[in-house]
Amino acid sequence: MRNKRIAVALLVLLMIGALAFPAFARGPKCIYCKDGELKFVDVTYTRWETEGFPKCPINPNYTDKEQTRWAHRTWRCNDCGAAEVISSLETRVLCGH
Ligand SMILES: [Zn+2]
Ligand SMILES: [Zn+2]
Repeated sequence: MRNKRIAVALLVLLMIGALAFPAFARGPKCIYCKDGELKFVDVTYTRWETEGFPKCPINPNYTDKEQTRWAHRTWRCNDCGAAEVISSLETRVLCGH
């Protein structure tokens, strides 16, 4: 019971926070129309491709695998329906040591 009240209080605080900082509550603005707001629709990833073999930070006798992939995120305007794809490069280092 007590925990539930705390959770509700936290939720109210979060809502107040979202109202106080509208930039965090709203998605990116549409560039094609005035009032539209972009909503996240979908993401697709390319395969991880190995780009390099950096020295392992745990055991310098080994090498790790540095990999990159592209993430293509589709956003759609909730007003005019225009879609925008925003791509970003993601990297990871694989270490099994
Ligand atoms: Zn729009
Ligand atoms: Zn390693």
